[in-house]
Amino acid sequence: MVTPDAHTRRQILKAAIGGAAGLVLGAPIRGLAAAAQTAAAITVTGQLSDDLFLLRLPGEANVLAQTGSGGVLLVDGGSAKAADALTAHVSGLPGGGPVHTIFNTHWHPEQTGSNERLGKSGATIIAQENTKLWLTTDVTWSWNGQRFKRLPKIAQPNKTFYTTGTLESGIQYGYIPDAAHTDGDLYVYFPKQNVLAVGDVVSGEGWPVVDWQTGGWIGGIVGGLQRLQTIANAETRIVPGRGPVLSLADVKKQTEMYGEIYNRLSQMLNKGRGPTEAVEAKPTKEFDAVMGNGDEFVRRSFESLWAYLSPDA
Ligand SMILES: [Zn+2]
Repeated sequence: MVTPDAHTRRQILKAAIGGAAGLVLGAPIRGLAAAAQTAAAITVTGQLSDDLFLLRLPGEANVLAQTGSGGVLLVDGGSAKAADALTAHVSGLPGGGPVHTIFNTHWHPEQTGSNERLGKSGATIIAQENTKLWLTTDVTWSWNGQRFKRLPKIAQPNKTFYTTGTLESGIQYGYIPDAAHTDGDLYVYFPKQNVLAVGDVVSGEGWPVVDWQTGGWIGGIVGGLQRLQTIANAETRIVPGRGPVLSLADVKKQTEMYGEIYNRLSQMLNKGRGPTEAVEAKPTKEFDAVMGNGDEFVRRSFESLWAYLSPDA
């Protein structure tokens, strides 16, 4: 949990770190999500059971939809631009209808863009308490100046929790306190289908964003991936924030990779090196062929060590 005081101190500290890294605040740039896409472009990329659908909106994050007699439950809701198309699409799924519940796996606009539309129609918006805190304040990323406006009240999570919860339908959800991606990450587990949705705690497609501005850090990626291995079993299908469905074996492999990168960066930190030197050392080089260029990921990860290890953070 974050108290208002800690919150303020942390923001000041992080602004200072951004400056120390030689980064200049620029003009606001476009949102995280890629350009708007048409409703027709939404595809069901995976039917995970009779009632569970993985939706892919081109250029956007994964959305998981569960249909049922009471309507539709979503894990994440795409960007605001896609909200109308998404709600229309899920009402047309087999057994589909209006959305009654949405989980926000974290605060990023690629996940919370349909909150306003769904809040206005009376949906339950579930998030970890820290995610609600970020959605009720403006956030600016120190490293590129990108600004995120707080959400209007109607769009804010209206059901929050700290540790775990269970819905009447049996769906289980819980906090992932390692700060793998933000300090408000949650998982949603569908026990009957053995499907685990984990948001951006796991990336199924390239290097993740390390959002240290709102608590994420490279050590948290390793910790979060380890924690997921205690929730999932060998048959669990794991739905990441982006990319295809993964298995426990995939998550284990990722844990090893991020563990190795974490060790390399920690060693450089202990030798007094900075983010630019970390990038130049190419600590991800044997993974880049699969994962893509690691430079930005390495820079953010190194900065995240500073942010995490600073005593007042
Ligand atoms: Zn995210």
